[in-house]
Amino acid sequence: MPVPGACGKPRVVPHSRAMTNHAVVIAGAGPTGLMLVAELALARVDVAVVERRVKQDIDGSRAGGLHARTIEVLDQRGVAERFLSQGQVMQVAGFSFIPLDISDFPIRHNYGLALGQRHIERILAEWVSELPVTIHRGREVTGFSQDETGVDVELDGGGSFTLLRALTTKGIAFSPSPSRPMPIPAYPFQADTWS
Ligand SMILES: Cc1cc2nc3c(=O)[nH]c(=O)nc-3n(C[C@H](O)[C@H](O)[C@H](O)COP(=O)(O)OP(=O)(O)OC[C@H]3O[C@@H](n4cnc5c(N)ncnc54)[C@H](O)[C@@H]3O)c2cc1C
Repeated sequence: MPVPGACGKPRVVPHSRAMTNHAVVIAGAGPTGLMLVAELALARVDVAVVERRVKQDIDGSRAGGLHARTIEVLDQRGVAERFLSQGQVMQVAGFSFIPLDISDFPIRHNYGLALGQRHIERILAEWVSELPVTIHRGREVTGFSQDETGVDVELDGGGSFTLLRALTTKGIAFSPSPSRPMPIPAYPFQADTWS
């Protein structure tokens, strides 16, 4: 819980009361963060996500669909139908503005899908909500600090200050595409801890 200081300014809450350990902390629940958290949760990695948006809604239009390979990956996870049922299957591949018809490709999904990003994110978020994932919405990652045992991920929200901890033995904390760039922890990523 946020604990404001007596003067009303944010203050650091003692680790023993405020810090929650996770193997991985992800900053940002856009398409990249949502897909990554789902992959990690399915791999039984203890993962938390911090998203500064209160809701998954996005303003305006962004990406307009999915390519064949993305649909295949979603199919491998058993969720492709959730997307296919809400979009329009069509040939979307192209090169240098030349449309490419891949309907004769020997693959399960030889087409693309027209589906707005707001729907893609909504469906991804619904899927993630079914997985063992901690999501902190309406919170922003403001910085990192690290020692030999892990990375403290600093959150700023509602005048409070909280720490999550990503454990260096298992995980990594990062921000996919923050509009306000911040330093990324420089500890060595240990690929041999992934399975
Ligand atoms: C106006 C616009 C139009 C676009 N049109 C197209 C298009 O036509 N076709 C196409 O393929 N792509 C388009 N894109 C690109 C597409 O939207 C991106 O490629 C896609 O959103 C990238 O997903 P992402 O998860 O990597 O990053 P993002 O979608 O940017 O998600 C990052 C998330 O991190 C959160 N975040 C950032 N910093 C912090 C922080 N410090 N703490 C907590 N949360 C944080 C943000 O709130 C956001 O939810 C468009 C993008 C924009 C902006």
